Amino acid sequence: MSLKVYVAGQLVAKEDAKVSVYDHGLLYGDGVFEGIRVYSGKIFLLAEHVERLYESALAIRLTIPMTQSEMAKALNDTVKANNIVDGYVRLVVTRGSGTLGLDIRRTSDPQVIIIADSISLYPTEDYEKGLSIITASTIRNHPGALSPRIKSLNYLNNILAKIEGTDAGCKETLMLNHKGDVAECTGDNIFIVKKGVLKTPSRDSGILDGITRNCVIKLAKEAGYPVEEITLQRHDIFVADECFLTGSAAELIPVVKLDGRPIGAGVPGPVTADLLRRFQEFVRK
Ligand code: PMP
Repeated sequence: MSLKVYVAGQLVAKEDAKVSVYDHGLLYGDGVFEGIRVYSGKIFLLAEHVERLYESALAIRLTIPMTQSEMAKALNDTVKANNIVDGYVRLVVTRGSGTLGLDIRRTSDPQVIIIADSISLYPTEDYEKGLSIITASTIRNHPGALSPRIKSLNYLNNILAKIEGTDAGCKETLMLNHKGDVAECTGDNIFIVKKGVLKTPSRDSGILDGITRNCVIKLAKEAGYPVEEITLQRHDIFVADECFLTGSAAELIPVVKLDGRPIGAGVPGPVTADLLRRFQEFVRK
């Protein structure tokens, strides 16, 4: 059975799911999106994702043509129509089609697109052995130019950094911010563990306010780990005991090397393993 995609208010066969070539989402990357997990048939942290989507839209002055509860229903309907038990949902809202110019007043019909599909995960081996990453020379978007807190359809900043990583044989890539401090990876937030304390770049480090990040912070605090949201430098990663990344797709994945230098013992650490176990327990609750 072909996948059903939600577009223009309807669930249609994947082959028939289309938007205009004049859509500013395509012409200018003018739009916002979310990537969400489904565990045991339930959309994980649905309210948090819907809220972030509407905040991203507000930040780019895009009015989503449905309420948050209508959006939640459309998401649930799409997951059900595709019998997704464990999978991934891509929710996209474009500016809609318009003229060949930037003026948003000359666009109409923002498109809400929901794709519910399976997910390709990092292989198990990466969770057991940990990732090696490098630092990109491409810095994360300056918050004064385009806030990294907006999950916009323009991901070129991250894509350019990701290319540097893939060229070097790495599956993720660290990005620094305009001050030279640690921001995040191209599609994941970053944490380190130092003397039993969890540390992660604060929201004002120029990062996406990751939903997995916030979930892991909450679980870590409940487990009794002190958590600091602070300014981190690459130095802090080099001298850390452990390092891991968080994201909807990756969940929580260890990092064992940065720029060729082993982090801690050079193998996934016990705090990372404990938090991954707690996270996996939590998502299946
Ligand atoms: N940072 C960036 C740049 C991202 O694109 C993502 C999501 N893919 C994340 C962090 C992780 O965010 P979340 O936990 O909400 O998926």
